[in-house]
Amino acid sequence: MDPLKYVAKYFDIEVSEENLERIESFGENISRLENAVHNVKQREIDAIASINPPMFIQTHFLPEFYSRLGFAVSNIDIPFPVYSFQYVSPGGNSSQQTDIEFNSETIDALTEWMSKRIKFQNSVAGQRALMTKSLRDEIKERDDHTCQNCGLSSYMEPNLLLEIDHIRPLSKGGMTTRENLQTLCWRCNRTKAAKWIEIEE
Ligand SMILES: [Zn+2]
Repeated sequence: MDPLKYVAKYFDIEVSEENLERIESFGENISRLENAVHNVKQREIDAIASINPPMFIQTHFLPEFYSRLGFAVSNIDIPFPVYSFQYVSPGGNSSQQTDIEFNSETIDALTEWMSKRIKFQNSVAGQRALMTKSLRDEIKERDDHTCQNCGLSSYMEPNLLLEIDHIRPLSKGGMTTRENLQTLCWRCNRTKAAKWIEIEE
């Protein structure tokens, strides 16, 4: 009934702000990975579309054409681990099994599950937990998929990696509110992080 409870139990994940923060940053990394894989697949589709052999070859010799070209579409799948949780009744007559794949959906659900169980006020972990995938998507949409610093957009560069930035960082008391969030390209995001470290020093 509550598979995440068993995930927490069997992996010994204690409900704490510290763990919530770790799970959230893990989720962000997975989401970046999924983004990157999506971009590579898109590039392959673009590359193949741009080859465009004559119709005669397309109709009769397409597999041979590509094999002679030495061009193979890679099959990238992220090997998310899958765990099966099985309950067997004491008599052994009935059993129930739930499979859990550790993909971004599960990590998002786990983040939500844990944040509901933590009583936090304005802690960094609490604010970070509010940063869900759907909120990230909403902010990108609002900012028209455009970096708010350098103006690069997904329209100009289809494979641009956009990230959501806290204008005032969480570590400086910033909150996860729409007004404090902006879309940045990954380059600008890294540069900004470096600047805050300088200010701190
Ligand atoms: Zn930028």
